Amino acid sequence: MSTSKNFANKVVLITGSSGGIGAGTAVEFARYGAQVVITGRNADNLSEVAKQCAAVSPNGLKPLEVLADVSKDADCKRLIDSTISAFKRLDILVNNAGKGVFCPITDTAILDKYREGMDTNLRSVVYLTHLSVDHLEKTKGNIINISSVAGLKPYRTGFIYCMSKCALDMFTKCLALELGPKGIRVNVINPGAIRTNFTQAMGYTNEQAEALYTTRAVKCPVGRVGESIDIANAILFLASDEASFVTGVHFVSDGGSLHAPS
Ligand code: NDP
Repeated sequence: MSTSKNFANKVVLITGSSGGIGAGTAVEFARYGAQVVITGRNADNLSEVAKQCAAVSPNGLKPLEVLADVSKDADCKRLIDSTISAFKRLDILVNNAGKGVFCPITDTAILDKYREGMDTNLRSVVYLTHLSVDHLEKTKGNIINISSVAGLKPYRTGFIYCMSKCALDMFTKCLALELGPKGIRVNVINPGAIRTNFTQAMGYTNEQAEALYTTRAVKCPVGRVGESIDIANAILFLASDEASFVTGVHFVSDGGSLHAPS
C-alpha cells in the first residue's frame, strides 16, 4: 500500500455518500483502511453502500451509517455528534452532498428553490465545518469540499446552483487562511460532468441524462464524461499526507471541458 493511500486509523465522514461521487469515495477510503461514516437520506441506498465498503475494507471495518438531511441543522449536529460518540475523533470531512437546483428567475417558487439550493449546497457546509473544526484541530485533519465547474462559469437558469458553488469555492479559500494555523487544510474540487444520479435527481429521465452525457463527451477534450472514481481519486489525493503543502486550492477535474470551446 502506498503512503498516499494509507488511511488506516483515520475517521472519514463523507456527506452525500448514499450514491454517486460520495458512495464511490466512501468505498475508496474504506479500501485504503479508513473507518468511514456514510450519510444520506435514503436508508436502502446507504445500507447498500455500507456493504460495498465493508467488502473492500482490509480490516473488515463496517461504516457508521447516519440517516440525515444536511439541509436541516439538527441533522448536521446529530451527524457530527454520532461520529464523535462512535470513534472519538474526526480526521477528514468531505462535504459532498449537493443538488442541482435550476430555474428561471421568473419561477414563482423562486425563494423556495433558493432556500433548497443554498441550504443543501452551502449552509450545510458552513455548519458542518463549524461543528468539525475543534475535532479536526486535534487530529490535524483536513476538509475537502465538492463544488462544480458551475462555480467557475455561468449556466443559463443555473444561478442558484452556480452561486451556491461559487460561494463554496470562496468559503474554501477563506477557511484555508483561517484554519491553516490550526493545522487544518481545506481544499475544493470542481468536477465537470460526472455520470451519477445527479441529473436524474434534477428531474431528467435516464434517456435524457444519457443524451446529455453524449453531448458533453463530444465537447470534452478527453472525449468522455467523468465517473465517480475520477473524483474519488482526486479526493483521496487531497486528503492524503502527500498533499500536506496544499490548501485553499481549486482542483478542477473535468477532462479539460472548462476551457474548451462550447
Ligand atoms: P447524486 O445525486 O448521484 O448524489 C447526491 C448525494 O447527495 C446522494 O448521496 C444524496 O443522498 C445526497 N444528498 C442530496 N441532498 C441531500 C440532503 N439534503 N441531505 C443529505 N444528503 C443529500 O449526485 P453526485 O454524486 O453527482 O453529486 C455529488 C456532488 O458533486 C454534489 O455536490 C454535486 O453538486 C457535485 N457535482 C456533480 C457533478 C455531476 O455531473 N454529477 C458535476 C459537478 C459537481 P440521498 O438522496 O440519500 O439524500
